[in-house]
Amino acid sequence: MSETFDVIVIGGGPAGYPAAIRAAQNGLSVACIDDWKNYDGTHAFGGTCLNAGCIPSKALLESSELVHRAREEFKVHGIQVGAVTVDLAQMQKRKAGIVKSSTVGIVGLLKGAKVTALPGHGQLLAGPQVEYTALDGQKKVLHATHVILASGSTPIDLPSAPVNGKEIVDSWGALEFDTVPKRLGVIGAGVIGLELGSVWRRLGAEVVMLEAAPQFLPMADQAVAKEAQKHFKKLGLDIRLGAKVTGARVTGDGVSVNFVDSKGEQSLTVDRLVVAVGRKPRTAGVFATDSGVTLDERGFIAVDAECRTGVPNVWAVGDCVRGPMLAHKAKEEGVMVADLIAGHHSDVNYKLVPSVIYTAPEIAWVGLTEEQVQASGRPYKVGVFPFLASGRARAMEAPHGFAKLIAATDDDEILGVHIIGPMAGELIAEAVLALEYSASTEDLQRTIHAHPTLSEALHEAALAADKKAIDFPNR
Ligand code: FAD
Ligand code: NAD
Repeated sequence: MSETFDVIVIGGGPAGYPAAIRAAQNGLSVACIDDWKNYDGTHAFGGTCLNAGCIPSKALLESSELVHRAREEFKVHGIQVGAVTVDLAQMQKRKAGIVKSSTVGIVGLLKGAKVTALPGHGQLLAGPQVEYTALDGQKKVLHATHVILASGSTPIDLPSAPVNGKEIVDSWGALEFDTVPKRLGVIGAGVIGLELGSVWRRLGAEVVMLEAAPQFLPMADQAVAKEAQKHFKKLGLDIRLGAKVTGARVTGDGVSVNFVDSKGEQSLTVDRLVVAVGRKPRTAGVFATDSGVTLDERGFIAVDAECRTGVPNVWAVGDCVRGPMLAHKAKEEGVMVADLIAGHHSDVNYKLVPSVIYTAPEIAWVGLTEEQVQASGRPYKVGVFPFLASGRARAMEAPHGFAKLIAATDDDEILGVHIIGPMAGELIAEAVLALEYSASTEDLQRTIHAHPTLSEALHEAALAADKKAIDFPNR
């Protein structure tokens, strides 16, 4: 193995492996070091997203949604299936198979791009050089012209509810249950809490979610948050806002959780407790103290808008740096840096990183919320189209939620799009493209959308912004 590379990437998650592949596509010699360890001790590329995040959670969301639909919707379609039972072992096996083929696929992608894949730990030294510790403990110092740090993130611990991997688990543990808990507690009603709470609720658990903040989904458009709350209540998610957990301990009867809310001190007993209170950047052991890399005030690796750390030729991307902790943001940063290193122009439009919550109904948005536009003082108009009026959504037995478009009244520019409803995560791509091109409401109004499709909801929302909606009375 060569010990000198043009680029060494530390981390093989959604930030690191695309950076490595793009750098290799740009004709550079590249190594990608990754130290992910699965529960069984085996190594896999792909980071949190493939091993313990996006992919396994979406596999279980899909399976559990099918169970829910089979139980609740099939009869409406005239399909009789008798009692629907869950084979959780098979569901978990399917999920594990998807994860395995995805992570093996990354190894294939790296190999295909001629990236040297190095399982093991990497640490940036001054230079820049990288100390590589292989899985067998052998150490080697590698030399690089550029180093990209892509070390990702780990769950935030809650000292009052220490994870023991059995009764009290983090998000990864909550993806691995081998039985459906009868009573499940979730601390944090953020993205992970809502997705994993939905999975286990649909599979039969009674789910109580304790959320410290008084407001539900504060980062989302509040009309969407309100609509979501209604649907989650209907599903049976018991979401308690303003509930601060003060302690959790394992008892003979499960986990006893103490919390304080507006009514004072409360407690509840659950069989399993998921701690989902956010994630923190992984920075320990990633760079030597004399490497020159610094952390910002929130503990992320400090970088500028182009992911430069300030140390010549050392870059950092993904969850370990500021910005939303999302796989697609991580990927775009990795690709941007690889292109910048090769001398190409590149940037990431941080204003247009879409957010998706993969619940049912799905929630997705891009751009500004109505609250943000209001606060900016810019005059605006809003168009809303409910999926109740969408022929396709009705045919799908999913006439829930709405598409909402916010645009400036002065020049008609679209400022934000917020969708709650079927396939919102897919529908938002059109809005991202529209905003990327600074499209106007009129541009969307004049774009032909096939009928009957869910995408017509966005078209009609654009028409509704000018009180021209055809399929739903204007408001
Ligand atoms: P990571 O994926 O964390 O990868 C970092 C990698 O670097 C790891 O393999 C780690 O072992 C390795 N590493 C770290 N330090 C070193 C070192 N010193 N030497 C060698 N290797 C090292 N995001 C979405 O966009 N959509 C979703 O649907 C979604 N769902 C999620 C569901 C869950 C349950 C969770 C927990 C997260 C989810 N996320 C989702 C977030 C997403 O997983 C992260 O934003 C994404 O993985 C960040 O990519 P990354 O490469 O920066 O970090
Ligand atoms: P989050 O920040 O979305 O939610 C954490 C929630 O926990 C917040 O609502 C917060 O108010 C609450 N909280 C914090 N401390 C608490 C306490 N002591 N008691 C009760 N509640 C408390 O974080 P997450 O859900 O853990 O997700 C972590 C990251 O992973 C997010 O940045 C998210 O973007 C990413 N992720 C994305 C997706 C997706 O894109 N669909 C899915 C899962 C995770």
